[in-house]
Amino acid sequence: MDDGNEKAYRWEGDYEKTWEALKEDESGSLQASIEHELDKAKKRKLHKRKETVRLGMMRHIYIVLDMSSAMLDQDLKPNRALVSVKMIEKFLENFFDQNPIGQLGFILTRSKKSEVLSEMSGTSHHHLQAFAKLSGEIVKDAGKHCLGEPSLQNSLDLAEKTLKHMPSHTSREVIFISGSLTTCDPSPIQLTIESMKKHKIRCSVIALSAEVRVLKHLSECTGGSFGVILDESHFLDMLLDHIPPPAGMVTESSLIKMGFPPHVQSQNSGKISLSMTSKELTTGGYYCPQCQAKHAELPVQCVVCSLTLVSAPHLARSYHHLFPLPSFSEVKMFESGALQQDCFSCLQKLKQHAESVTYICSRCKAHFCIDCNLFIHETLHCCPGCINARCELNISKNDD
Ligand SMILES: [Zn+2]
Ligand SMILES: [Zn+2]
Ligand SMILES: [Zn+2]
Repeated sequence: MDDGNEKAYRWEGDYEKTWEALKEDESGSLQASIEHELDKAKKRKLHKRKETVRLGMMRHIYIVLDMSSAMLDQDLKPNRALVSVKMIEKFLENFFDQNPIGQLGFILTRSKKSEVLSEMSGTSHHHLQAFAKLSGEIVKDAGKHCLGEPSLQNSLDLAEKTLKHMPSHTSREVIFISGSLTTCDPSPIQLTIESMKKHKIRCSVIALSAEVRVLKHLSECTGGSFGVILDESHFLDMLLDHIPPPAGMVTESSLIKMGFPPHVQSQNSGKISLSMTSKELTTGGYYCPQCQAKHAELPVQCVVCSLTLVSAPHLARSYHHLFPLPSFSEVKMFESGALQQDCFSCLQKLKQHAESVTYICSRCKAHFCIDCNLFIHETLHCCPGCINARCELNISKNDD
């Protein structure tokens, strides 16, 4: 067995028993100790970010959710199935914000079969509707909807059918959320794994109960990640880790033709016509600039001429993945000589104690607190100090 090495269990290393690390100070307060632990968690988040790697902006991900009887287990409250649905809803909220031209699809597996819960799509509301319905069904009668054994092979085959046709400049990914310790497959699974590898489909696994050899093997072969959850918050963390695009997925660069259709309002177009994606009769929509097919929402791949249709803000919001903001350097307060500094961003006094640190942008030399640092790197993706410096430069140029 090659699983004995400590590295294999790194997901455990990140989550120490934090309650054991808490220590009272002289006055009997836990405050300082708690703050220290919180800071440690924030730092861990910062270090997780990968730098200067080319990341794929266009992503296609199938999330496979186990709906076997193992999901009735109540180690997550009220049961694994409901908690998983809740986690996926949170994931959806964040995913399209950070990957506006990415696409997600969902597959369920139960009773040795697999089915598409919601088709690959670039917007969240179809998925959210599907999951709202699913969670309603689970609440009503969980036993009727979480059935039998999952099938890893059937799920992978189903995902592969769609993913293998995705263009080579996009990423192809599968995230398997597995509660069961078994899988029921009609033919040797190794062939499926080979096929996933051949089509460059990256398969990651989040296991809810324990490490399963075949699942770990699948993730290793295809360059995905594997982890076993420790509790609910760890589950969410592991799922959210899939929001930034994985590095090194896309090897080919190519020019991509894209269309930017404006939205035509109902009163202007007048006529009712069929929307190609939602198959509904509507009055307004986005018309493909190449073939004039109408689509109800963006981003989408034109169903007629397969041109990628996006809006300019979608593209702009994906841009930061290609040129990520460099990490700020962490400097001890006493060494930085900046004892009286305020955070450039939130204007709060930077904490003043022996261990406190400040984060400095290498380009504009502005100081930031840890919270602003996280916010800048996770949400904003540009440094307020640099933008400010650029504005001032422009103003002084204009004055000259
Ligand atoms: Zn078209
Ligand atoms: Zn701040
Ligand atoms: Zn800066």
